[in-house]
Amino acid sequence: MFWDQKIETIERTALEALQLMRLQATVSRVACKVPRYQQKLADCGTKPSDIRSLADVQRLPFTSNSDLRDAYPAGLLAIAPDEVLRLHTSSGTTGKPKALFFSANDVNNAAELVARCLVMTGVTRRDVLQNMMTYGLFTGALVMHYGAEKVGCLVIPAGPGNSEKQLLLMQDFRTTIVHVTPSYALYLADFMEKKGVDPRKDLALRKAFVGAEPYTEETRRKIEEALGIDVYNSYGMSEMNGPGVAFECEHKCGMHLWEDNYLLEIVDPQTGKPLPDGQTGELVLTTLCREAMPLLRYRTRDITSIIPGPCPCGRTHRRLHRITGRTDDMLIVRGVNIYPQQIERVLMSLPSVGRNYQIVLEGLDEMTINVELAEAGFDGHVEHLTRLQSEITDRLRAEILTKPKVHLVPPGTLPVSEGKAKRVIDSRSL
Ligand code: ADP
Ligand code: ZN
Repeated sequence: MFWDQKIETIERTALEALQLMRLQATVSRVACKVPRYQQKLADCGTKPSDIRSLADVQRLPFTSNSDLRDAYPAGLLAIAPDEVLRLHTSSGTTGKPKALFFSANDVNNAAELVARCLVMTGVTRRDVLQNMMTYGLFTGALVMHYGAEKVGCLVIPAGPGNSEKQLLLMQDFRTTIVHVTPSYALYLADFMEKKGVDPRKDLALRKAFVGAEPYTEETRRKIEEALGIDVYNSYGMSEMNGPGVAFECEHKCGMHLWEDNYLLEIVDPQTGKPLPDGQTGELVLTTLCREAMPLLRYRTRDITSIIPGPCPCGRTHRRLHRITGRTDDMLIVRGVNIYPQQIERVLMSLPSVGRNYQIVLEGLDEMTINVELAEAGFDGHVEHLTRLQSEITDRLRAEILTKPKVHLVPPGTLPVSEGKAKRVIDSRSL
């Protein structure tokens, strides 16, 4: 099923011609309207007329997180202030917020892209979508909300948390889809288990759109099994409109990134040099349709690769591999580079492990992993616990090449966050 079949299946050559035209228009717009970009373009000696092919994107300057922060509150605006229709800010996982502006066309366009994503997974107007992301300044909830309304779904603006109420809404309004973070999805599964609710029998739930933070394939499977649903990976960020940048189709083999709206590059995070399809690096995006706040070569800090080859669904927009972390997520413990997702992958593949964990770094590089046991994970035999603890320790050591302390805790005892999970507590005195 398609929302906009023509553009979703457009031939690559036509897509690239469209991209070039839009890239040229975007560069001209910022060169004319945004002083900071005028300066940046001058610094790298590039004029809008130098952009003659898509490869010329490399002549453009990168935009970083700090460009947006330094420009706060209005520095990168490319339209007149009275043409701005909406303000969002980033959720500020790292540092102070970034202001993001939308024109009327930007608001509509963001909803269009979300509509493409939803219909791609089989959503119809008969669906009931319970949106468990945070409403407010974040893009996560509102942009999904408008997109789902465009498709004609009944949208329940539940927001996050208050699991008792979430469950009631799901039961009373026969919710078929939830939009949720991976950590909250796992928490909900636990909650239902405790309440004696069997989602397969007692609810109408069929799908979850899960994103906003990195998670592993093992976590996807855990959510799917616990709730008896299909989980689709949903990727976006406030700087690029919010949700709807890239999304899985029914084949769940990578996330189609809407290349008519975003010019996609994967670069070596250290050197900034482009990497070929298939190689892992940092995702860099240039907006092609945004009016209020176009961004050139935005360094997302998200680590991924492009999956080469066509997708069986017929869409021609290339697919991104699941995000494996952020360049600023990397931990260095005793000289070894570790991504939290490596730890998650090991933990979530073990059936006796529950649904929550925490990485604690303290002292002089001491790493402790607190791991919740599954409800059925402890049979009362202490020697079984000791065996599980050493199994987890060995598996982790094989994956991250350093030996952590593993601390097993009862189910439901680690803190849960309503928004993005805080998995790493780093209080090292280094
Ligand atoms: P920030 O957290 O930077 O303040 P956002 O709330 O816009 O801003 O979050 C966007 C970030 O969330 C992305 O850059 C990415 O790191 C993460 N993210 C969003 N969706 C996914 C996903 N499906 N998989 C992994 N990471 C994701
Ligand atoms: Zn596909």
